[in-house]
Amino acid sequence: MNLKKYILDVQDFPKPGVNFKDITPLLNDAQAFHFMIEEISKFVKKTGANVVVAPEARGFLLASAVAFNTKTRFVLVRKPGKLPREVIDIEYSLEYGTNHQQIHKGDIRPGDQVVIIDDVLATGGTIEAIIKLIAREGAEVKGISFLADLTYLHDEKLLSEYNVQKLLKY
Ligand code: IMP
Repeated sequence: MNLKKYILDVQDFPKPGVNFKDITPLLNDAQAFHFMIEEISKFVKKTGANVVVAPEARGFLLASAVAFNTKTRFVLVRKPGKLPREVIDIEYSLEYGTNHQQIHKGDIRPGDQVVIIDDVLATGGTIEAIIKLIAREGAEVKGISFLADLTYLHDEKLLSEYNVQKLLKY
């Protein structure tokens, strides 16, 4: 199934000069959504992972369905101020300034085998921060899955040392 026709280009969103990939039409098609979740689930099962981890907000849409389907735990990665209990925090650099990602303390346990799931790989800043969070908690990244890789926004060697699934490349 060709999922590209369910992803729309939106020019100048959220700011001028950005070509935003809108994945909501894919979620709005029952067969396309089902196909995507099955493909990611097959990948997760092959890695033998027991946990899936995803950043807000679109990552949640994919990863919670995959966690349900594969009977794995689901861990939320969120921006500061969203998680109510004690958090593990990581700061990372953006083009201008810095950003933070957080997980609840104890959600990822030493020895966990993790697959990270997100909708879009752009510069790679988000995913690299999550990889560091997982390592800090003593867990292992068994795989990383993206619906879409925007290859023109990052070095081709990015994540080359990991087992990465990319359903679509641009
Ligand atoms: P990165 O950290 O630059 O790789 O950006 C990746 C994060 O930003 C992911 O969590 C994506 O959900 C989001 N993102 C970046 N560009 C797009 C886009 O074109 N469409 C949807 N999400 C995007």
